[in-house]
Amino acid sequence: MESLKCPDVLLNSLENGHFVIDENFVVTYWNRWLSVNTQISSEDIIGKNLQEFYPDINYKILLRKIRTALRLKTPTFYDSNSNTVFIPITRNKVTRTALKLMQQQVTISPYIVNENKVMVSIYNISELHETKLSLQKEINKVNELNKILENDRDIIDKNIMVMKTSVNGNIIDVSTLFCEFFGYEKNELIGKNPSVLKSGKLPDLIYKELWNTITNNKSWTGEVENVTSSGESRWVQSRITPILDDDGVLMEFNAVYQDITNKKLLEVLYVTDPLTQIYNRTYFDELMTSIALHQRKADTNFIILITDIDHFKSINDTYGHQVGDEALKDVARVIKDSLRENDVVARWGGEEFVIMLKNTELDEAQMIAEKLRANIEKTKIQNVIDITTSIGLTKYYVGEDTNLTFKRADNALYKAKESGRNMVVTEL
Ligand code: GH3
Ligand code: MG
Ligand code: MG
Repeated sequence: MESLKCPDVLLNSLENGHFVIDENFVVTYWNRWLSVNTQISSEDIIGKNLQEFYPDINYKILLRKIRTALRLKTPTFYDSNSNTVFIPITRNKVTRTALKLMQQQVTISPYIVNENKVMVSIYNISELHETKLSLQKEINKVNELNKILENDRDIIDKNIMVMKTSVNGNIIDVSTLFCEFFGYEKNELIGKNPSVLKSGKLPDLIYKELWNTITNNKSWTGEVENVTSSGESRWVQSRITPILDDDGVLMEFNAVYQDITNKKLLEVLYVTDPLTQIYNRTYFDELMTSIALHQRKADTNFIILITDIDHFKSINDTYGHQVGDEALKDVARVIKDSLRENDVVARWGGEEFVIMLKNTELDEAQMIAEKLRANIEKTKIQNVIDITTSIGLTKYYVGEDTNLTFKRADNALYKAKESGRNMVVTEL
């Protein structure tokens, strides 16, 4: 077994610590590196118990490791993970880390097995440890950032309506708020076409324009009326952005929505007459202003009618104001039913209505007005009261002040009243 013994010269020349102990922790060898670094000379320690010098070592573990090494005749590590300082050696190196003590890896190798002696080797792993520590710091930082990101994702998911679709328009992902808002489970929407949300009330042109814009790699913003899973109307402001890869190839579409249902309801209220539920004067005024402002050819060929119920005061006086109100509602309904989809009717004042017949020539407009007059004449309010209206008609001349248009229509109406009521009069 003596042959296993390394010569002193070799062990003394090594830049690591090596000492020999037995199962009773009696030291029988202590190399020069140890003497230099611990300031305990081999003369002082050889023959003595290691516990006298280093009472803080966990001797229970050390004994177990010594026995394992001897039994298996193979080196073992002294718990290097949880304890990286075996014997305290102050580091003389200037470092940026807080490591004041040398970090050590300790192996216990069988030395003279029949004497139960082992060689304990101490390796300086301070630098490795430093690298590990700084690496851990970086990992912690990355983990921290990931957590923040995860948090942000969570906030977005719960508070913003987002929908991702593939290039051919199928839903890839939707946020939780999106699902809640439209009353779907996520898996009911994924793979579907967003058209499941379509209200069907918007002109196809809007969707065509939307698709044209985003497939040309441009963002589209607009207001869209959608429906929930139970068929309720929901207005959203929608912004759809095409997502391109580094080479500019279209990858998917990202849509962000905002609930504007209340805004839309307010907008409707703002332009609706509460009694008759048709447009109010505000709407008609704004329509006229925008036409006068833009003078687009498609919009400028229109006819204006003003209708006024004949002797309406007497209906109020005879049957009461409430019945008068019912009469106004009935007349509004008859007017709407007598017109075409594109024509616009608004309540102008008390019992006066104003009508715009779009893209209509004079003779056709006169026929429509006459039909309207006749329809009202045929109507019986509350099934008993006869009612008639007088109608003033004029045409809009491109570029003219719309006040002039109204003045002519009003003059025509006045003439209709003067000439005996229940008739249509045109003034050009
Ligand atoms: P004319 O044939 O000359 O038009 O006679 P008229 O009685 O209709 O006269 P005028 O247009 O001057 O009177 C309109 C009346 O309509 C006066 C007002 O009491 C009534 N009126 C206005 N707004 C309302 C309303 O919201 N509800 C009811 N019930 N009556 C209204
Ligand atoms: Mg009147
Ligand atoms: Mg009247």
